[in-house]
Amino acid sequence: MEKRTRKPDWLRAKLPSGPGYMETRKNVDEHNLHTVCQSAQCPNMGECWSRGTATVMILGNICTRSCTFCAIHTGRPTELDLGEPARVADSVAKMNLKHVVVTSVARDDLKDGGASVWAATIRAIRHRCPETAIEVLPADFKGKAEHFDILLDAKPDILNHNMETVERLQRPIRKTARYDRSMWVLEYAKSRGFVTKSGIMLGIGEREEEIKQLLSDLRSINVNIITIGQYLQPSKKHTEIDRWVTPDEFKHWQEFGLEIGFDVVESGPLVRSSYHADEQSAMFNLG
Ligand code: SF4
Ligand code: SF4
Repeated sequence: MEKRTRKPDWLRAKLPSGPGYMETRKNVDEHNLHTVCQSAQCPNMGECWSRGTATVMILGNICTRSCTFCAIHTGRPTELDLGEPARVADSVAKMNLKHVVVTSVARDDLKDGGASVWAATIRAIRHRCPETAIEVLPADFKGKAEHFDILLDAKPDILNHNMETVERLQRPIRKTARYDRSMWVLEYAKSRGFVTKSGIMLGIGEREEEIKQLLSDLRSINVNIITIGQYLQPSKKHTEIDRWVTPDEFKHWQEFGLEIGFDVVESGPLVRSSYHADEQSAMFNLG
């Protein structure tokens, strides 16, 4: 394992530029959308936006939670933007996407946690783009099935919910989230027949045995897809990076994940939850 030093070469990403990138930027700006690509300072913007893919973030850009690894702003959210679902759908139509990933901030201030806006967004995309596979990455709705059902009833194609880290580090890093509640989100979606997906970061203080346990727990509830990437510290105020995980170690976790039965394991330094998500739909005949 690499000790934490200067950012290693394997984390150097493509710089944002070129006509594809500019086109995606124009689309996002024209529709007045938020993207997790920008809000979370994702290192893959150069690559993804040049390929014409972005991950839209609904329900505003201010989160009611304050995870210590996350660059998204925290605080009191602004009022709901009721035009958002239609604008998201229009932007997906203009990007001509085969697969779209939509995420949101956590909205613990709303009675249904934002589930009705989620449902409206999924339905608006389905209506405008019936061929597009829709992957959703919501928060945990505080474990309330009646709210989560509102989203699931709108029938997305993939239910993605990130565990983010191992059980021991949930409380210090995710604060208001809980390991068992996030497992429940994935298990509940699977019980309703959805393809499920989760994501974790390495390099934030986890140990080998804990990673194995987490991946095994996810397989025990039949999660189909897992993404594994390097944690990058957004600012000095955020949790410190513990170590740079080498490409060889990422390869090891990919092999381990496939061995224990995941259908797809995306594992690499720059992998994020929505990285190359479009390539995963093919495997499940979605869209
Ligand atoms: Fe956006 Fe996801 Fe690509 Fe990052 S990996 S730039 S969040 S689409
Ligand atoms: Fe960031 Fe999600 Fe945590 Fe909000 S709930 S701070 S968006 S990781």
